[in-house]
Amino acid sequence: MATATPAIRLDENVTRYISKPRQMLINGKWVDAASGKTFPSYNPATGDILARVAEGDREDIDRAVAAARAAFDSGPWSKMTPSERGRIIWKLADLIEKHGEELAQLESLDNGKPLAIARIADIPGTVDMFRYMAGWATKIEGNTIPISAYGAKYLAFTLREPVGVVGQIIPWNFPLMMASWKLGPALATGCTVVLKPAEQTPLSALRLGELIQEAGIPDGVVNIVPGFGETAGAALTAHPKVDKIAFTGSTEVGKLIVQAAAGNLKKVSLELGGKSPNIVFNDSDVEAAIPGAALAIFFNHGQCCCAGSRLYVEEKVFDKVVDGVSQLASKIRIGAGIEPTTDMGPLVSEEQLTRVCGYLESGYSEGAKAVVGGSRHGDKGYFVKPTVLVNTNEKMKVVREEIFGPVVTATPFKDADDLIAKANDTVYGLASGVWTRDIAKAHRVASQLRAGTVWINCYNVFDPAMPFGGYKQSGWGREMGHEVLNLYTECKSVCTPIA
Ligand code: NAP
Ligand code: MG
Repeated sequence: MATATPAIRLDENVTRYISKPRQMLINGKWVDAASGKTFPSYNPATGDILARVAEGDREDIDRAVAAARAAFDSGPWSKMTPSERGRIIWKLADLIEKHGEELAQLESLDNGKPLAIARIADIPGTVDMFRYMAGWATKIEGNTIPISAYGAKYLAFTLREPVGVVGQIIPWNFPLMMASWKLGPALATGCTVVLKPAEQTPLSALRLGELIQEAGIPDGVVNIVPGFGETAGAALTAHPKVDKIAFTGSTEVGKLIVQAAAGNLKKVSLELGGKSPNIVFNDSDVEAAIPGAALAIFFNHGQCCCAGSRLYVEEKVFDKVVDGVSQLASKIRIGAGIEPTTDMGPLVSEEQLTRVCGYLESGYSEGAKAVVGGSRHGDKGYFVKPTVLVNTNEKMKVVREEIFGPVVTATPFKDADDLIAKANDTVYGLASGVWTRDIAKAHRVASQLRAGTVWINCYNVFDPAMPFGGYKQSGWGREMGHEVLNLYTECKSVCTPIA
């Protein structure tokens, strides 16, 4: 099949992976879709087909849910000792590390991101997440509860038990890492899973499925069904035998998930969009804030739910910061992710290219001006130039809506009160950044921001131990950290009189 001709030598497993249609993983077997259909995954640097993948639909979801149900209800996974589960999850992490280069190449080709970024961010992040969660398998504890009821003596305690069969629907921006954020806690707590990767980037999750088998995770515990959201995703979300849905993606689809889950009132956790404010004060270390602001928006081509897409800069340093970020933007080398000289690859799909360019047009029609970038790059592949927009105000679509591309709006502010009102004037509440040397101000502002994460004098710092998730329409629940374990367990109170 047609691929870009990369300067690097592709790993033989990558060549194998893209040389023939990929099947789906159901009950430990690699199988075609019941319909026999396949769909293409594209190389976004060229627009060519990279590989074909089995197209899962309702019938495949039914088979996968039945396998996950059986594996949970009677299978070895939920009955295995926590120590054994932890060891197997750790082994999976080792295998991902061992195959890191190959997975990084696959991710770069399928998603478009620079290979160097996949190597230093996506793959180690995935490994760390499984290792962190492997440790939790032996530490999921309840509490003993002092009881006063009826003046009698009782022994009461809580157990945390796995929630059951979990449907997991993930996006395309960090395909493998998002799979690990979902699978890690599910496996640690003893749940079983049906995972639907994004249609744009199914390959790394499928390769992960092979490593899951190699690690010794029993058949049926993890089932991976690639396909489309409207068909496979909707069937999974509505399925009466699924106990929980964990979703990452757009707020719009998050609302559909909530409605579809109502049938059997399955548990729902959501990690949705954002329009995160990144705030630079006059008294900040501007030399650190400038690259920090560039990283906040341009990392992963702006295709991050937590992207610092609204840059607010105090008046005195506004020109300096905008100028600095724009200069950094103009030096970013755009190209195919798989090329070693690339700093920024293409957007993931033609649809995203159209969407981001549409936002730029809307910005211009409302009076915004691009200091740097501002348009598509080239005419092949889905590239957009890193862009800084000024002359913006709170009414503009480019300031209100998630663009999900390398586009930041820069707005000056006068004082902290004016700023907090602006920063919180959004339906989202995922992340935020604050740059100042005044420690009291930093924490005062941090406490006033309605967002799930506040980065002070840094941005995009993630760790499996640090919870991540959103206020307002950015989601329900927190992923990572011990917080996420609550999303994958039920709490059972056990109580007995002892006198
Ligand atoms: P999306 O539609 O929300 O996709 C996320 C996942 O949900 C994909 O696996 C998708 O399947 C699935 N899905 C779509 N409709 C569904 C339905 N009715 N029921 C169940 N699952 C469904 O996101 P997108 O269309 O790829 O991107 C659109 C915008 O979403 C972006 O511009 C960005 O603003 C936002 N987004 C946010 C994140 C994030 O990390 N929070 C990630 C990606 C996108 P398909 O693969 O078939 O679409
Ligand atoms: Mg692709």
